[in-house]
Amino acid sequence: MSAPTFQAAPWSAAVVADAVAATLDRAAEHGLPRAVADVARANGVSPVSITEWMTLARTDEAPVPPDLLSCRACGHGMILIQHPGGALLYLCAPSCARAPVPAESIRAAVAAVVLHRTPHLVPAGRTTQAALYAAGPIHRISVGATATDLRLTWRTVPRQLDGRLATMPQRLDRARRYADGGDRTRAIDVLRVGLMHINPARDKLAADLATASAAALLAALTLADRDALAALPWARWAHRSLRHLLRSHTHVEVRAALRIVAATERDTGDLTAAANAYSDLIRHHSSTEGPDALPTLAAQAALAHVLQQAGDCEAAQQLLARTITTHRRAHPWHPASTPMMQALDRMHTTCVDQDHSHPHRPAHNVGPPPCTTAEPAADRTGYCSDQRRPRRPHRHADAGTTGRRQPTEG
Ligand SMILES: [Zn+2]
Ligand SMILES: [Zn+2]
Repeated sequence: MSAPTFQAAPWSAAVVADAVAATLDRAAEHGLPRAVADVARANGVSPVSITEWMTLARTDEAPVPPDLLSCRACGHGMILIQHPGGALLYLCAPSCARAPVPAESIRAAVAAVVLHRTPHLVPAGRTTQAALYAAGPIHRISVGATATDLRLTWRTVPRQLDGRLATMPQRLDRARRYADGGDRTRAIDVLRVGLMHINPARDKLAADLATASAAALLAALTLADRDALAALPWARWAHRSLRHLLRSHTHVEVRAALRIVAATERDTGDLTAAANAYSDLIRHHSSTEGPDALPTLAAQAALAHVLQQAGDCEAAQQLLARTITTHRRAHPWHPASTPMMQALDRMHTTCVDQDHSHPHRPAHNVGPPPCTTAEPAADRTGYCSDQRRPRRPHRHADAGTTGRRQPTEG
């Protein structure tokens, strides 16, 4: 297959809207990373562009709450797109050939009508964000030819936007209780309403710990809902904010936020960013809890999976094998070693089945211990570069089960 050639930007609004609609459609069946790759290839567009369009189209921080606007001509929902000149526009997706409408005009019109008809639903001090509260009283907004030609369908009973007047610590506490009780949807609602005034992609860092922690929890719950693209800006913003507020890279809450960043990067398919985040996490866990601690080893196992996904089977298998050896020595009764060994077996099977040509070392060839210095690992695998051994090519058969299950001292 020849390398794809990418057309030069800028894109027309209709191309963006059609690509977003196609990606959403395909993601429902094949998952987001593959949908992005497929639509990018089919349209001759860079996957980075598709990901950017998707992120904007589905942001919770849209001028008007997502899913409220529909195109009167075709009935499709309208999505947010950014004109190459910088202006935000709404267009139906897939586009029915109607003209896009300026997002700011729709936001102003919706805000005016919310403040006029349901001012009691907008908390004090939030009138400039009145449009964000439209999802409470309004069921649907049908958009005609222009931004002022709107037809609103009101709810007979306004939908309760959970806890609009709660403080952020109260909201965080309530969301945790919902999440612990298994009601993830309600937990997400509580957090989203509280974080409505924040745009994690553009705003400065959180001013207080409760807000930063709420963003971290929102990211974790959104990721658990398998919406990594929506989770990513919250995960990054929460991690940056907590690091700043706690003035530490290694505080337990900062490390927890970094773990969410790493998992979210992995699920969006950005494996380089995921590997970097997991490498940082290994370093921070190692310096605070030790190289043999369970969180350190769990992060190493996660990094091994990312390396394998990225096609670096050799590094992945070495890292996972060493992790298993350390794990069995330091935590002999812990149940995690069995799934890790099964994962290592699957990695070997994949290499053999797919007849990979890269050289391998046997998994039981236990390497050096993880890097525990405060310096970043130069090769981003969590190991000091000077601890790496030269490669020795060997046959795949070497990586069979004999020997690997023998306890080995690392
Ligand atoms: Zn339309
Ligand atoms: Zn391989």
